[in-house]
Amino acid sequence: MTDLKPIFSECNSEPLYIAGPCSAESREQILSSAHDISAMGISIFRAGVWKPRTKPGSFEGIGKEALEWLREAKERYGLKVVTEIATPEHLEEALKSGIDGVWIGARTTTNPFATQQIADALRGVDIAVMLKNPVIPDVDLWVGAIERIYNSGIRRLAAIHRGFGTQQTTPYRNAPHWSVPIELHRRLPELTILSDPSHIGGRRDLIAQLSQQALDIGFEGLMIECHPTPECALSDAAQQITPAELAELIATLQWRRTPVGRDALSEYRLHIDTIDSRIIELLSERMDIARAIGDYKHAHNMAVVQQDRYNELLLAAEARAEAMRLSPKFISQIFSAIHEESVRQQLEKHK
Ligand code: PEP
Ligand code: MN
Repeated sequence: MTDLKPIFSECNSEPLYIAGPCSAESREQILSSAHDISAMGISIFRAGVWKPRTKPGSFEGIGKEALEWLREAKERYGLKVVTEIATPEHLEEALKSGIDGVWIGARTTTNPFATQQIADALRGVDIAVMLKNPVIPDVDLWVGAIERIYNSGIRRLAAIHRGFGTQQTTPYRNAPHWSVPIELHRRLPELTILSDPSHIGGRRDLIAQLSQQALDIGFEGLMIECHPTPECALSDAAQQITPAELAELIATLQWRRTPVGRDALSEYRLHIDTIDSRIIELLSERMDIARAIGDYKHAHNMAVVQQDRYNELLLAAEARAEAMRLSPKFISQIFSAIHEESVRQQLEKHK
């Protein structure tokens, strides 16, 4: 994909910011946020018009009527306006209203049939297209969706990392799995990759940290949800920030001009850092379970250490280690340390 172009060559600020509410809710809300966002010097405005919601009956967007508000925001404030599309019909409506760019949401990128239909409808159209990562952390599925859109002739193309659905306990709404966008960058080095800390975090207080992490990793920009009154938002209320908070965030973010991911050593290091944070998350999850076991044993008047169980655990870990090119001694040391901590935590419960 060496012939890719910037999504908006007129807006090639570094980093690139796209901001705006999760959903377009009213003309006033759109014009007020568009005003504030353009006053900050951000030139790409987002708002969802058709909203993919998990449960029926939630606010599913205003629909095409809201496209007129986006057109007005674009004309008044000289913004580029972008919205989410999930079907060829959405694309057609969005194009009629002079939209500058579209993104394909995580649920749609997950479905190759849906992505292909949009790709077919994009043939011959010159528009910026951004693909959010699929809901599952499958880099092939993401690359496949990007290729479908590329093959339709779109060259103003970018990817947006918005995290991945997970059943594990993490502080995030969608687990970042940074190694997935890093692998995407390794495979498609010319592709612009942005990060969406709002959907990764799912909570306002996580956005600053996730944004800085993304910039440190070498993402070229951020898509951030911003609403005039976030607590009253009709969708994603917990993760949106006010224009004033966005301005403050942008002022504190550091843009280091040595993005990681551009040379192999930094990429390896970043991959290691990602794995290390996963190890810590997993250990914390394991300790949560150990504490629950501690409660159970306490309630049933059982001893904390069951020697047979511990021996079994160590033997199984050593056997697995050997099969995976790890030294059994090394694994046995790690598991003794983990077990010791787990026993210590269970004993606390018995105090
Ligand atoms: C959004 O950007 O508001 C949205 C619904 O995104 P995602 O597809 O990442 O959930
Ligand atoms: Mn949203």
